[in-house]
Amino acid sequence: MSSIETLSPTPVWSIFKQICDIPHPSKHELKLRDHIRCLCDEKGLKTVIDPTGNLIVSKPATEGMQDRQCVVIQGHVDMVPQKNADSTHDFVNDPITTYIDGEWLKAKGTTLGSDNGIGVAAGLAVMLSDDITHGPLELLCTIEEETSMRGAFGLESGYLEADILLNLDTEDEGELYVGCAGGADIISTLQLQQQATPDSHIAYEIQVKGLLGGHSGLDIEHGRANANQMVNRFLLSYAKKLDIRVANFNGGTLRNAIPRESFTLVTFDQACEAAFKQAIEEFSQLMLAEYGKTEINLTIDIQTAALPNMVLTQELQNKLQLAIASCISAPLRMSDQFEGVVETSNNLAIVKSYEDRIEIICLTRSLINSARDFTCQLIAGTFEMIGAKTEISGAYPGWKPNPDSAILQTMSKGYKALFGKTPAIKVIH
Ligand SMILES: [Zn+2]
Repeated sequence: MSSIETLSPTPVWSIFKQICDIPHPSKHELKLRDHIRCLCDEKGLKTVIDPTGNLIVSKPATEGMQDRQCVVIQGHVDMVPQKNADSTHDFVNDPITTYIDGEWLKAKGTTLGSDNGIGVAAGLAVMLSDDITHGPLELLCTIEEETSMRGAFGLESGYLEADILLNLDTEDEGELYVGCAGGADIISTLQLQQQATPDSHIAYEIQVKGLLGGHSGLDIEHGRANANQMVNRFLLSYAKKLDIRVANFNGGTLRNAIPRESFTLVTFDQACEAAFKQAIEEFSQLMLAEYGKTEINLTIDIQTAALPNMVLTQELQNKLQLAIASCISAPLRMSDQFEGVVETSNNLAIVKSYEDRIEIICLTRSLINSARDFTCQLIAGTFEMIGAKTEISGAYPGWKPNPDSAILQTMSKGYKALFGKTPAIKVIH
């Protein structure tokens, strides 16, 4: 007897079983959305599909609760389709096969889709219930959350009555999230200005490797080293002394990752080879001493390379070194409402040379939109000062936490009454 149907509360799990039975990977979730609509129609609830494809269901208050504030419960109907290499599962046509393992419900060889199937099931169970007392309710089922957020972005005003939204799509049991950082990409482009590599020069690649890196939201507060900043710091200290010239940069790969590695092609007079090796050694020791507790796998290696025909002009290299040094890659401000939560940060993610340009990509995050926009100005300004063109793109809004909101008090009290413990109130950067 170890199937979903044996689990309690039965209404939630029986709906979750139906969700598992109807394939619903992102962009193929409309069959599930329409099934949910059918269940609500049969119950006599008002249902609407908005022009984007989101489903909105309304349910009137139960007797005596008409004067309460309307609340919308929200979940997304699509799931991430991932399977084991040996699985023949077809996400567009096959139902998810589930099994119970101890106190966990799992899927055989595939993702389960509990993100966000269980949230949708919980919301729908309330909408279909006859035995729960509630004020006016709405259920919002959004589409394409896992890919483009097209559903949420496309939601227009005028479709919802409620002022309070409960999003049933967080990670861990016992946690209530009340805020999330928004973000924006800052792409700075510098036209390449080059000159012939001096004849007496030899070339080496400086390889910064083994850094912890991490997610630019979750890990920015941990004080990890940034590979782009690290190699730049070496240049700031030694480039003038040893007449080191940069041919190209290649640091970082993803805008939302703290860069773990950087590869920089440099040249210098062959008479300086021993001094260069000595400088790398000194610098490595210095970095290991500074980051010894954090970056235990840091290595700074050098490798001989073919001499490039061209290097950056001295002027461009100097300017770039200063701009990168001025580009903060760390938290800029902590939240004054939630202790230990980063409010605003910037990640200097990518510094990369192309045939005709150098691109510097940063991702700024903030709980507060105006602080995000100001940080974008700061970072963009740093690179504009050295002649770069900057573009700010992909901006999405933050969700500023309100620790005093009435719904948070109600939720916390309700959670404690039900489960006997206080939920953790969280904000995610
Ligand atoms: Zn989700």
